[in-house]
Parts: sequence; C-alpha cells; structure tokens
Amino acid sequence: MTAAFDRVRILDSILDHIGGTPLVRINSISKSEGLQCELVAKCEFFNAGGSVKDRIGKRMLERAEAEGIIRPGDTIIEPTSGNTGIGLALTAAVKGYKAIITLPEKMSQEKVDVLKALGAEIVRTPTEAAWDSPESHIGVAKRLNSEIKRSWIPDQYSNVNNPLAHYEGTAEEILAQCGGHIDMFVASAGTGGTIAGVAKKLKEKCPNIIIVGVDPNGSILALPEALNKEGVHSYKVEGIGYDFIPQVLERQYVDQWVKTDDKESFVYARRLIREEGLLCGGSSGAAMAGAIRAAKTLKPGQRCVVLLADSIRNYMTKHLNDGWMAENGFSDDATVKAAETKKL
Ligand code: PMP
Repeated sequence: MTAAFDRVRILDSILDHIGGTPLVRINSISKSEGLQCELVAKCEFFNAGGSVKDRIGKRMLERAEAEGIIRPGDTIIEPTSGNTGIGLALTAAVKGYKAIITLPEKMSQEKVDVLKALGAEIVRTPTEAAWDSPESHIGVAKRLNSEIKRSWIPDQYSNVNNPLAHYEGTAEEILAQCGGHIDMFVASAGTGGTIAGVAKKLKEKCPNIIIVGVDPNGSILALPEALNKEGVHSYKVEGIGYDFIPQVLERQYVDQWVKTDDKESFVYARRLIREEGLLCGGSSGAAMAGAIRAAKTLKPGQRCVVLLADSIRNYMTKHLNDGWMAENGFSDDATVKAAETKKL
C-alpha cells in the first residue's frame, strides 16, 4: 500500500501524492449502456502530475538513485507522449535533476506548457517518424544521451520499474479497494507497462479475471494480428498505441483486445465528464469504449475496473473545446447515439 493512502498528515513532498487514487462507480453511463455488471473507474488523473505515468516517473528515478545510476544535477532524457515526461519532470523538479523531454509534434500544447513550467527542456520530433529512425522521439533521445555528459534515459519502454510500479502499486490498490472482488480489468496501452503490471498481479490473486487491452486503430499492439487490419496510420488520441511492441508490454497477460477509433474515444471522454463528472483525457474515453463493449459479457454481481489514465488539463484546447470537436467531425448528435448503441 502506498503512503499516499494516508492523507491525514503533512506530506513530505508532492511526490507522496502519487498513487492512492480513488476508485469511482460509473453510474449513468453503465445504466444507459445496459450493463448488468458493476463498472468502476480507477481515476489516475488525481495523481500529482495528472496521470498514471507519475507513478513510473517517480519510481524509475528513485530506483536509479538507490542503485547509484544518477545523482542530483544529472540530466534525465526521456522520449514520451508527454505524461511520462510530466511525471519525470515533476520528480526531477522536486529532487534537483535537469530534464529533457523528446516529444512528437502531435502531443498537445498543454503538455508542452506544463513540462516547460516544471523546468524541462522540450525537443519536438516529427509524429510520422518511424520509432527506430534517428528523427523519432526515441532516436533523438538516444543522440542527446550520447552528447550530454552525466545524462541518463530511464527508458519506459524497457525499464522494469514501469510495470513494477503497477504490479506493486496500482494493482494492489485496486485489489484493496475491491476487497479482492474483481472480474474484469480494462486499460488502454501505450508502453503497456500499466496493463502488463496490473494484469500480472491481478491474475495471481484472481485467476479467473479477464484482462482487456484497448488499442487504437492505426496502432499494432492488439492480438490477434487480424485486429490491426488498418495497419499503422495517424490518429488523434494521445498516449496510446505504437508502431512497435514495447518490451514491457507482455501481451501474454492480456486476454482480449478491443480496437477503438478517435470519434468514440472523444465522445466517451466527453460523456465521462458530462455524465459522471470525471475530468479525464481522450485515452480514458478509449478505455471506456473498450470497457463498455467487453463488460457486456459480465453478469449481475460481477465487477469491471476501467483505468482512466490522464486528465482533461492536457486537452483544454482539444476534446474539451466544442470547436475542436466540430472541426474534427466528432460533435454530431449521431456520434453520441452511435456510441451508445455500439455492440462488440
Ligand atoms: N493514456 C495516456 C494519456 C498516456 O499518456 C499513456 C502513456 N503513454 C497511456 C494511456 C498508456 O500507459 P502505458 O504506457 O502504461 O501503457
């Protein structure tokens, strides 16, 4: 159990407000979608930096410090879609490290501004660059690492402390909050650290649990491969999906994959805000779309947990904005109707 569960005290620093996020029942959407099971949301946007990735930002730095890999004054370099960068930059700011974040152009200005305010230096990279090209966010981070003395790449794609933060933290919290009663877990995948880490622990404790991964169309993380029939193409939802399989995404822990598109993701994100008061990001909408489809198979008395990864703060000029929704063709009434009636 994380120290953050104990809120009746003065925290040593804001890093103690990472973890211990609330699990909240989804009432209105469950009802209108005709779910028989209980649906609850793990609200990761309540972490100090606003996302699930604060957990790994803190853990990767603390473990590297403990192992003598880094010391204050060093430079942390990380390729990210923004939230790991915010988690790392927040931890770096509190602990006295420099941070350089390499970030694809697609990611929101809101993330850039938060990163800058936390003191991080940002290098933008072309969104369409293949992951293994020198121009990609991963390629540029590697080059900077070779050029800057006393610099280190935590590398969320292969760092064991990414899934371990969820195996030892997120999953233990969910088990405690559910009193051990959980039948399905749904999360969207980027590096896959969240789903693999949570799933491994939940499968140990609840062997019959069904783990559902959510992967956007345009990404190739889902299995079986036939699900990825659209191949690699761009999409608007941030933080999920890749054109390669990250090492930490141990897909043997995922029982089913659901593919989602931008429209249903943003419509569900807006519905989570409007109907449940949950101020979440677009990948949370994707996870919710996946949960609604997958949880239709569950019966009364069963429980599905869906993880909401980040906050609307990252998208004030994107899906929170009606003009942006309209410009992208996401705001017609039929969209909401279609999302409500969609079947697996
Ligand atoms: N949603 C958002 C908004 C994210 O930034 C991320 C991390 N890239 C994820 C979901 C997926 O998390 P993970 O990398 O652990 O799969």
